[in-house]
Amino acid sequence: MVWTTEWAPTDTELNACVRCGLCLPHCPTFRLTGDEAASPRGRLNAMSAVAAGVVELDAAFDEVISSCLQCRACESACPSLVSFGRAMEGARVEVATERPRGRRLRSRALGRWIGKRWMVRAATLAAVLAQRVGRWVVPRRLRAGVGGLRRLPIRRSSVLGYESPLGDETVGLLAGCVMDPWFGGASEATIALLEQAGYRVLVPKSQTCCGALAAHEGLADDAARMAGVNTAAFSAVDRVVANAAGCSAHLSEYSRWGAPGLQDRVSDALHLVVAAISDGRLPTLETTGERVAVQDPCHHQHALGMTEESRAIVRAAGYQPIDVDPTGMCCGAAGSYSIVRPETSAMLGRAKASEVEATRCGIVASANPGCEMQLRSHIDSRVRVAHPLELYAEALGVTPQSR
Ligand code: SF4
Ligand code: SF4
Repeated sequence: MVWTTEWAPTDTELNACVRCGLCLPHCPTFRLTGDEAASPRGRLNAMSAVAAGVVELDAAFDEVISSCLQCRACESACPSLVSFGRAMEGARVEVATERPRGRRLRSRALGRWIGKRWMVRAATLAAVLAQRVGRWVVPRRLRAGVGGLRRLPIRRSSVLGYESPLGDETVGLLAGCVMDPWFGGASEATIALLEQAGYRVLVPKSQTCCGALAAHEGLADDAARMAGVNTAAFSAVDRVVANAAGCSAHLSEYSRWGAPGLQDRVSDALHLVVAAISDGRLPTLETTGERVAVQDPCHHQHALGMTEESRAIVRAAGYQPIDVDPTGMCCGAAGSYSIVRPETSAMLGRAKASEVEATRCGIVASANPGCEMQLRSHIDSRVRVAHPLELYAEALGVTPQSR
C-alpha cells in the first residue's frame, strides 16, 4: 500500500467494482475521449494499481484522477453500488499531497480561498469588471466563462445576517460562497418561500463555504475545517438548508469530513418547498401553459437522488416542465473544472446548451450556481436561466418578510 493519508480509497470501495463496464456509456469524459483511462472503471483500476504498489502517485495518475468531473453519473449506473465519489475524493487527497508547488498553489486558490469572504468579494469585483470590459482584457481560453459572467445577476445586497421576524421551526440557510453575491435572487426567493411555508429563517454570518470545492481539490484539512465552522454556525437551528445542489450534497456527507453533528439536520431547500406544496402550505398556481426546460444538476440526480423536485416546483409556479436530457450528462461546470479544463468543460457546456435550445423553451430552470453559470456561458442569450425557486417566488409575488 503506497497511500499516505487516512482519506485514501479503501479496499472495500475499490474491490466493489466488478469491472462490468456498465458505467462507461454514462461517463462524460469516456464519451468524449473513448479512453479507458478516462472512464470510471479505468480510474478505479488506476487507484487499485496504486494501492497495490504497482503504480506511483505520479503525474500520469494525477491526470487520470483530475480529469474526472466528479459528476457521479457512474454511481447511479453502477449495479455493484461502488462508492465512486468517496473513492475519488480520497484519491484526490492523495494526489494533492504529491503535487509540485505550482499546482498545489492553484488547488489552494480554488479550494481554500473561495471560503474567504474577501476573496469572494475580489472575485465579484473582477466579475463586474469582466461584465463591462471582459471581451478586451480576458484571455481567449476564459472567454466562454466571461460570456456567463456577463449574464450574472450580481448584487450588492447580501442575505447574510438575515433573520425572519416570525415562524415555528427554525431553518438555517447556507448562503454559499458565490451563491450570495452572484445568485442572491435565488437566496431571497428561498427565504421568502420558506417563510410562506411557516419557517423562521436565519442566515448566520459566522458560516463559511460548505467546503465542496476544497474537497474536490483534495484539500481535506480545509474541507474538514469548513465543515467544523458550519457545524458551529448552525448549531442553534432545527434544520439546515442549501439551495445549491452541490452544497446540499456536500452538507449531507459532513460526517465524512469529521463533522457528524450537522448532516442529520440537512435538507435541500427544494425538498422543504415541495413538502409545503404537497400539504397545502404553499399553493399550486393555475397553469399558464408556458414551457420551462428543467436541467438536473448532477448532485441532485446522482448524489441525492432528486429528480422530481425541480419539476414539481416549476409546475406549482404555473409552468409546464420539459425534460432536457434523459441521459443526464454533466454540463461541464463541475466546481472548478470550467477554470482548470476550459476546453472539455466548454464541449460539455455547448452540448447541454444545444439540448436546452432544442426544447425551444424561453426559460431553463437549474438549481445549482455552477450549472447556471455554465448555461449562461453557452446558451442563446434570449433564453432566461433561473433557479426553480426564483421562478416560483416570482410567480407567487413573495419576498422576504423583514426586507
Ligand atoms: S464521476 Fe463522472 S466523469 Fe468521473 S468517472 Fe464518474 S461518470 Fe466519469
Ligand atoms: S464502477 Fe460499477 S458499473 Fe463501473 S465497471 Fe465497476 S462495477 Fe461496473
